[in-house]
Amino acid sequence: MPPGGRNVQRTLSIIKPDGIGKGLIGEVVRRFEKEGIRIIAMRMFRLTLREAEGFYAVHRERPFFGSLTEFMSSGPIVVMVLEGDDVISRNRALMGATDPKKADKGTIRADFADSVERNIVHGSDATETAETEIRYFFSDLDVSE
Ligand code: UDP
Ligand code: MG
Repeated sequence: MPPGGRNVQRTLSIIKPDGIGKGLIGEVVRRFEKEGIRIIAMRMFRLTLREAEGFYAVHRERPFFGSLTEFMSSGPIVVMVLEGDDVISRNRALMGATDPKKADKGTIRADFADSVERNIVHGSDATETAETEIRYFFSDLDVSE
């Protein structure tokens, strides 16, 4: 990238069932919008267990996989495509560390999460995973330019 050049990215954000249960849709959206991050697609629905397993397939061998996918299919979620400069890392910074006890003060997870599993939000961690995860939930037609 040229010095001072822009690095516009897209990333997938999910407000997990605990975030919906705690009434945090508006709070999470507000944090994105306040940072100048654009929401260019949004859907709300409940995942089946199979769909949650597909989404988290990379974690299939981890001990927490069964509990995580049960939790993720336990109630509705909100999925969003975010767009902005360096939005993958900026979203991860707003979210905070996976374990809320280790998350920086003022991050979504530090402020609201109950546990390492029930940690309110998901965010893609790299450009390739962002692309795969966006495609898991959205067609090109759902995304506004
Ligand atoms: N997770 C869990 N136990 C762990 C690690 C992760 O239940 O020890 C859950 C948690 O909900 C996390 C998700 O699995 O958000 C995916 O894990 P990852 O390591 O990718 O964390 P993230 O990218 O969400 O910070
Ligand atoms: Mg992850």
